Amino acid sequence: MRVGLYPGTFDPITLGHTDIIRRGCALVDRLVIGVAINTGKGPMFSLEERVAMVEAECAKLSAETGTEIIAHPFENLLIHCAKDVGAQIIIRGLRAVTDFEYEYQMVGMNRAMDSSVETVFLMAEAKYQAIASKLVKEIAKLDGDVSKFVTPEVKEKLLAKIG
Ligand code: ADP
Repeated sequence: MRVGLYPGTFDPITLGHTDIIRRGCALVDRLVIGVAINTGKGPMFSLEERVAMVEAECAKLSAETGTEIIAHPFENLLIHCAKDVGAQIIIRGLRAVTDFEYEYQMVGMNRAMDSSVETVFLMAEAKYQAIASKLVKEIAKLDGDVSKFVTPEVKEKLLAKIG
């Protein structure tokens, strides 16, 4: 059984994330979405809210792809989380070169800690590549339309949060 772990903050889950999840499903039998507690990033949504949004999107993706997808909150080291959930591979999305440097370091350090877990990088479809949760939140706060970046359900949650 091939298990993948796709970690992130998902504050909130965007169409960029769901594109990567859909692609990841083709590579594994079970995909665990690691939702980082990440208080350092000052998330807009609570962990419970982020997990609930991930679960709602994943239910749709699971039905579409036939792959089991589970949301799993985590606070420990990524490499320990991978062991906890029995993942042999970590899936990360790559956007621009700005993502590369950070990811390069992460792979190096994770590999030094546990060389049995492989990291796989996926790229979203061109129209989703520029999407970042941080920018989606800024656009929503400034009354912009985020329909092209998140699902209608997530958009509703964003608007409710902003008031
Ligand atoms: P963000 O950087 O948008 O706050 P996360 O920290 O939740 O998102 O990112 C989780 C993973 O998803 C990371 O590997 C990140 O590079 C990837 N990712 C996020 N948005 C996209 C996108 N639009 N295209 C490809 N990968 C993405």
